[in-house]
Amino acid sequence: MSLIVQKYGGSSVADAESIKRVAKRIVETRKAGNEVVVVVSAMGDTTDELVDLANQVTPLAAGRELDMLLTAGERISMALLAMAIKSLGQEARSYTGSQAGLITDAKHGSARIVDVSPTRVRAALDAGAIAIVAGFQGFNRGTGDITTLGRGGSDTTAVALAAALNADVCEIYTDVDGVFTADPRVVPAARKIDRITSEEMLELAAAGAKVLYIRAVEYARRHGVTLHVRSSFNNNEGTLVVNPKDGESVEEPIISGVASDLSEAKITIVGVPDVPGKAAQIFTIVASTDANIDMIVQNVSTAATGLTDISFTLPKSDGGTVLKALEDNKAVAGFDSLQYDDQIGKLALVGAGMRTNAGVSAKLFTALFEAGINIEMISTSEIRISVVTRADTINEAVRVVHSAFGLDGDEEAQVYGGTGR
Ligand code: ASP
Ligand code: MG
Repeated sequence: MSLIVQKYGGSSVADAESIKRVAKRIVETRKAGNEVVVVVSAMGDTTDELVDLANQVTPLAAGRELDMLLTAGERISMALLAMAIKSLGQEARSYTGSQAGLITDAKHGSARIVDVSPTRVRAALDAGAIAIVAGFQGFNRGTGDITTLGRGGSDTTAVALAAALNADVCEIYTDVDGVFTADPRVVPAARKIDRITSEEMLELAAAGAKVLYIRAVEYARRHGVTLHVRSSFNNNEGTLVVNPKDGESVEEPIISGVASDLSEAKITIVGVPDVPGKAAQIFTIVASTDANIDMIVQNVSTAATGLTDISFTLPKSDGGTVLKALEDNKAVAGFDSLQYDDQIGKLALVGAGMRTNAGVSAKLFTALFEAGINIEMISTSEIRISVVTRADTINEAVRVVHSAFGLDGDEEAQVYGGTGR
């Protein structure tokens, strides 16, 4: 008997009909002789609607009460799904995150899982029932309060349960067929990837691929959980995200995919004294805001002035806070001025085979040059090359790079208008 964890995203349980359809699928999995644990997201756009509602009441909603509100979304879908399964004659029991033993730290809105003790879920399975767990939520023992894991956190709930229950596979059901070599809405020739390593998936997720949340992939990688990302609207095989053991050789394509991200901005700090300790000082100020910065580029200083410029990228949503923190500390840090640019796009080319193949950067830069696209920043890791371009050239950049690396498929990718969530 296998233990399968299935996670259904909001688009898969958007209305009563969808819930019934998903229930059938779950019951089939159970009838095939598997133990089944299901993690659900809130129906459709419920979470966004609840956030809007909170904003109408007060723009300052945060913390404990916001988490109380948002976790209601998953409570609705878990109960309805359990009812739908029961009506098909199969035993099902729904559990909130805390009932399922998802213990987190106390950070409301982006809590981290610190312990998973799914005793009641295990007991439900032992009793022959299907266990349905509300995604995206947990419980802090210190405060006794309900927490949420951050937007998209149901993926993490599913992976954490799969790890704790030692599941055979964790299936992530969404409204697209799997992980693609690029966003099919941008690159019609994008292909579904059959198998990808968690290492590559992490880089793609970090670079803007929305189909899986980065924290869920990190968790799966750390705990050796195999993910199967697939559509709940058909029975096609999706994408397996695997964790090859050390030394195990997997045949890896040089390039797995191209991701892009329009959610970042660039801050340039002009006229930074080129003396030891300045970068440390500046990035300590930036770190105090909790912003997640990404690419950093420092220019060569001119001998005449002894001054240099430092640029870095960060989420647009953190732009205001970081600018203010830097401005407030201008005198101490000793720079001249700040520039803010939110019209940038970031492209990342990811592939484990990059490690052992020369010429990948040259090919990337040539493809962009031939398309007349200017590169503003470059950064690399072992298995990724990222570049920043103007926002309005990013889609074209993704298309030419995808094609230059031979990733284009023969047929047009099927797009269901899905969001990948
Ligand atoms: N419902 C939550 C959200 O929309 C969690 C999730 O869907 O994973 O962010
Ligand atoms: Mg959702």
